[in-house]
Amino acid sequence: MIDTPLVEIPKINASLRATFATRKTFDLAWRQHQLLQISRMLQENHKSIADAIYADLGKPAFEVYMTELNLMLDRAIISAKRVPEWAAVKNLENHPDLPPHQKGWKPKVTPTPKGAVLVISPWNYPLILSIQGTIGAIAAGCTLCLKLSEVTSNYAGLLQQLIPKYLDQDAVRVVCGGVPEVTKVLEQKWDHIFYTGNGTVARIIATAAAKHLTPLTLELGGKSPVIIDPEYDMELAARRVLWGKINNCGQVCVSPDYALVTPSTTAAFVENLKKACLSFYPDGSLKSDSYTRIINMQHFSRIKSLLEQTRGKILMGGGMDETERRIEPTVVLVKPGDVLLESETFGPILTLMEVDDMRSACEYISANDHPLVLYLFTQNEQLQQDVRKLTMSGNLIFNDTFMQMDVKVLPFGGVGESGYGRQVLENTFSCFTYERTSLDIPAEVESKIYLRYPPYTDRSFEVECAPLLNVQIPESTLEGGLIPRG
Ligand code: NAD
Repeated sequence: MIDTPLVEIPKINASLRATFATRKTFDLAWRQHQLLQISRMLQENHKSIADAIYADLGKPAFEVYMTELNLMLDRAIISAKRVPEWAAVKNLENHPDLPPHQKGWKPKVTPTPKGAVLVISPWNYPLILSIQGTIGAIAAGCTLCLKLSEVTSNYAGLLQQLIPKYLDQDAVRVVCGGVPEVTKVLEQKWDHIFYTGNGTVARIIATAAAKHLTPLTLELGGKSPVIIDPEYDMELAARRVLWGKINNCGQVCVSPDYALVTPSTTAAFVENLKKACLSFYPDGSLKSDSYTRIINMQHFSRIKSLLEQTRGKILMGGGMDETERRIEPTVVLVKPGDVLLESETFGPILTLMEVDDMRSACEYISANDHPLVLYLFTQNEQLQQDVRKLTMSGNLIFNDTFMQMDVKVLPFGGVGESGYGRQVLENTFSCFTYERTSLDIPAEVESKIYLRYPPYTDRSFEVECAPLLNVQIPESTLEGGLIPRG
């Protein structure tokens, strides 16, 4: 990876603005070609991409293909096919709320590209989190500056070479580097910023965006809980939770961070976690080539220190290999207030906390930041409804973990501390477009609207304003109101 020279950054911004001004990127055929070029880039270079991600994260190629590369290949092709539909002008002439006299005014909405946009991506899913935003920005008809994470430098270096070969350099530019480079990027005016990463940096991004009133999508993380209904099949729950946990060694925004269990189920749940772990890694996880390592020493030390500081009881795993930056899938039973319950673990630790019942689980979750995902293992539909009502989260997933990432029709994103905005396919497209509205009011209606002009008279009030004041308000189903009826 070569850091982008700081002096180049304002020039990149200016050239992307200049390209946008030509309206070249508005052309649907151009967008479709670029989107298909993304799929070609992924297909023709899949091996070097998987190798680069392995060099950065030690991520097994299987995980790269299953959870990143294939999804992006598919979504770039779908986007190329669907973009004419997404970008089509929406005619509102038959909207049920449109009064008949406005039908001839041609009310329309055109999804319109916002301009020169910025995507800032993190290291943990380097491919999906850089390419998904790129697909959305191109489909939208924007020009794009893609700021890749410096933490996954092999991947960033490879993309720095590939993107100019496959995509239109007038419209898509890559910036690499760390805080000085991203700070310079953020000084420029962008028309949308799509940031994926942690909440602390998100505040820096939001502050920089505020200076230019730039709209934002913030895809953040946090502590995603799992609730285990004591009635659920513990073997299945344990296997599915552990699979979500070991994926990318827990370095996933949707990783199950902690599980809330009732005291009667702790032992069975942990026994089944151990059983599942043994079946995933019969020769141990530390040497397994089906298990990712921790991204760097800083994160390794952070996770190690959490295990040193916890006052909880390690019930599974706990072993580590510092030279290889590997940590076993680890389960720790803690009490409220433990360090493991403070911030996102972002590693292979599953924290367990006992709660009296399912309602207490909901109360605990509600008392904390709204998570990106809430997982609930239960067959009980009433419990599913209760949890839906009593908690908030970006996604609410029943009876499995992580699989929501594979369901491309679901809008993905957080709420509160886990971020705002939605992505995947048309939702990503929508981040980078705005709904430009238009009307075309015929000259002939002048005779029907002339009363709007001054001087205002009793007659103009009578015709223009009075009718709604006398309209019959429907009775509500609830009786009374804050102000008693006279
Ligand atoms: P990171 O360290 O790679 O940072 C992300 C980006 O922010 C990088 O491009 C980096 O250059 C930039 N950055 C770093 N410091 C900055 C600063 N001071 N000012 C401006 N920009 C700066 O990645 P990370 O933040 O460690 O990513 C992990 C976090 O992302 C976790 O919290 C995870 O939950 C979250 N995440 C969320 C999603 C989602 O879709 N919701 C997906 C993946 C990760």
